Amino acid sequence: MTTTRILVTGGAGFIGSAYVRALLGPNGPPDVAVTVLDKLTYAGNPANLADVRAADGFAFVRGDICDANLVDELVAAHDQIVHFAAETHVDRSLFGAGVFVRTNVLGTQTLLDAALRHAPKIFIHISSDEVYGSIRDGSWPETDPLRPNSPYSASKAASDLIALSYHRTHGLEVRVTRCSNNYGPHQYPEKIVPLFITRLLDGRPVPLYGDGHNIRDWIHVDDHVRGIELVRTRGRPGEIYNIGAGDELSNLDLTGLLLHACGADWADVRFVEDRKGHDRRYSVDSTKIRTELGFVPLKDLATGLTETVAWYRTHRSWWEPLQRRADRQDRLPLLP
Ligand code: NAD
Repeated sequence: MTTTRILVTGGAGFIGSAYVRALLGPNGPPDVAVTVLDKLTYAGNPANLADVRAADGFAFVRGDICDANLVDELVAAHDQIVHFAAETHVDRSLFGAGVFVRTNVLGTQTLLDAALRHAPKIFIHISSDEVYGSIRDGSWPETDPLRPNSPYSASKAASDLIALSYHRTHGLEVRVTRCSNNYGPHQYPEKIVPLFITRLLDGRPVPLYGDGHNIRDWIHVDDHVRGIELVRTRGRPGEIYNIGAGDELSNLDLTGLLLHACGADWADVRFVEDRKGHDRRYSVDSTKIRTELGFVPLKDLATGLTETVAWYRTHRSWWEPLQRRADRQDRLPLLP
């Protein structure tokens, strides 16, 4: 059996590490070797890879996807690239967009150039539903135009289109996924679900933006990982696949569920000034991946959130140091 050598960028982050744990776990494919390339920014955490560190075929390289020499060497030695590495927090992109453009746009182009030099390679680009913008009614099919609103989503849209351009122009085997909002274990405590859970478990108040009526389409990270694996193994070159579970919820309703699961109440919620340019509603149409690749999300939101709260309850040693560091260093202006 030939081994497929997969380079996973951003594999120490939330979703990338879930993907690597799935690939190298007991239910993963038997014929893969995985190298993680990760810069270990504030969001990258080696502890996320503890379960697979000793696995056969696993290697870790600390490095930057903008480092052309390193990227060239690594891409040459692998058959496929699954590209997660990115700056990912919308709020941070409002206060400093430069690193988003550098990593998300230039980093992606650096990887694509290397893939082209050493073709044939399969390049799975992990994009986001946020590239579509905001939608009042209905859901976005893959054919909708991209109308990103935040510096984060604009940088993701740019990298998404550049990746597709390498397919159309050069014939590189690029496949793009655009997934909705993820939740689950190992998510850095700055995005709404882990931020609220960790603060509520500590008896601290949580900040809710605006009127709380912004709607997001939630999916458990393990379902996202299943979708990516279907695209890697069965997707078609040059194609875009939306990935969603169809679990739409306003931030108010999400907060209600998290308060209940954490044993807190509305007295712990502070309504704060809305995020600038806050997208009102996201909704992806995932008919294509469901019909073409047989994707079925397995985790319903209520079960997934309950399990996620339970994970944070029992993994304080994972998040407390991150929370202390965030309290010291980050001070994102809108947190009370
Ligand atoms: P994350 O912030 O948890 O992890 C990002 C990882 O990338 C970290 O390990 C970080 O160290 C690494 N990284 C950052 N800059 C790097 C660089 N220059 N070189 C090498 N590594 C670098 O992010 P996540 O939530 O796991 O998201 C992963 C991917 O999925 C991103 O591309 C994101 O846009 C996309 N996505 C995320 C969501 C979501 O809800 N979180 C939804 C759809 C798509």
